[in-house]
Amino acid sequence: MKNNKVKINPWKSAKKKLKIAARELRMDPNTLNYLNKVERILSVSIPILMDDGTLEIFEGFRCHHSTLRGPAKGGVRYSPNVNIDEIKALAFLMTCKTALLNLPLGGSKGGIRVDPKQLSKKELERLTRRYTAEIINVIGPDLDIPAPDMGTDEQIMAWIFDTYSMQKGHPVPGVCTGKPPEIGGSVGRTGAVGTGMFYVLEEFCRRKNLDIRSMSVAIQGFGKVGKEIAKKLYDSGCKIVAVSDTKGAILDQEGLNIDDVIGCKNSGNPVIEFESRNGEQITNKDLLAMKCDILCPCATENQLYSGNADDVKAQIILEGANSPSTSKADKIFEEKEIWVIPDILANSGGVCISYFEYVQDIQSYSWDLERINREMRTVLLKAFEEVYNLSLERRISLRTAAYMIAGNRLAKAHEWRDLFP
Ligand code: NAD
Repeated sequence: MKNNKVKINPWKSAKKKLKIAARELRMDPNTLNYLNKVERILSVSIPILMDDGTLEIFEGFRCHHSTLRGPAKGGVRYSPNVNIDEIKALAFLMTCKTALLNLPLGGSKGGIRVDPKQLSKKELERLTRRYTAEIINVIGPDLDIPAPDMGTDEQIMAWIFDTYSMQKGHPVPGVCTGKPPEIGGSVGRTGAVGTGMFYVLEEFCRRKNLDIRSMSVAIQGFGKVGKEIAKKLYDSGCKIVAVSDTKGAILDQEGLNIDDVIGCKNSGNPVIEFESRNGEQITNKDLLAMKCDILCPCATENQLYSGNADDVKAQIILEGANSPSTSKADKIFEEKEIWVIPDILANSGGVCISYFEYVQDIQSYSWDLERINREMRTVLLKAFEEVYNLSLERRISLRTAAYMIAGNRLAKAHEWRDLFP
């Protein structure tokens, strides 16, 4: 059924993108078969004593998609929608992202099926510490390094670091990234995804002779990533005409004052509570279909699919979220000549600075912000250039080019390592 979004399986949807690239690459079917499986997935029950004295048992996961190119790296998601296929899909995306950036890392993901907003801080701490204890044998600096994702932040990372260190008997800052700077976190991690998205967009616009400052932007999802890219674009002179969260969207054709919308959101209010002079409330559906230059999906998977892709009127889609578009939507965007700057390139500033944090932690040496941003820019623009050039050379989408580069690196690693035993 064309419009039935409920039926989209995130794991199948993610693998389709590699399949398209594998065809272009003429990848050995055995290698594709290998990459189409996750190495391991741990499913855990997390019993928590709630503040009212009742026992609740939450479901959690940690999945390593690949450690072919190095220790696995990937976020931890707290959301009521977390499920095994979503976690597998996100772990797979991390493998592709680290391979695209040529970082010596693999891909993983974890999560708990919970709405973190419904828990008190103490409940959240108990949940995080017990989850860490349950997955302790599959994480660590040489094995798998968690980081923040939807519903998690630097406080959650601080608890993971502390729980792991208490069990080991000494501080192990390299166990996770996205920690506060006071306990081994890196400067620049907060804001990294938005900064990276901006570098990539800026370079794209330079190649296409587009003036970024005159552009209008709509942003779906006003969480960590949405706020970061909104701020970068707003400060660079773009007009941010609409933003949204789960409660709905606001539109102001004259442009929203993003500092004030961030202030409203940070005080715990949904964006629809923000009062803009010429503002009006619209739905998330309207936001995705509105006329603007840049659409930034920064919420969750498969928001752009066969049922609504044809409605999109933006000229550029800059993917802040992981896997926000299905392959069928991609096809429609290609037909409509909408440029899609794909997730594994566009939002890779997060994993790039996470990698720098990990490097600083294991070397016990801190870099300054200037070095962090300079080195991130170098890594991202190198990946951009490879993707952009390949897409021109082969007349393929930026997404297929990105997956071809990642897939090729993974295939080569697989060839060198071969199979054990
Ligand atoms: P977050 O929890 O901080 O924010 C998510 C935001 O999206 C919230 O404002 C929520 O209300 C909104 N939202 C959720 N579903 C929505 C929907 N259907 N329509 C409109 N709004 C919706 O999460 P985040 O860290 O900003 O992550 C957002 C996306 O970016 C995810 O796909 C995540 O995997 C990806 N990502 C995150 C990071 C990171 O470091 N945090 C890095 C790379 C990619």
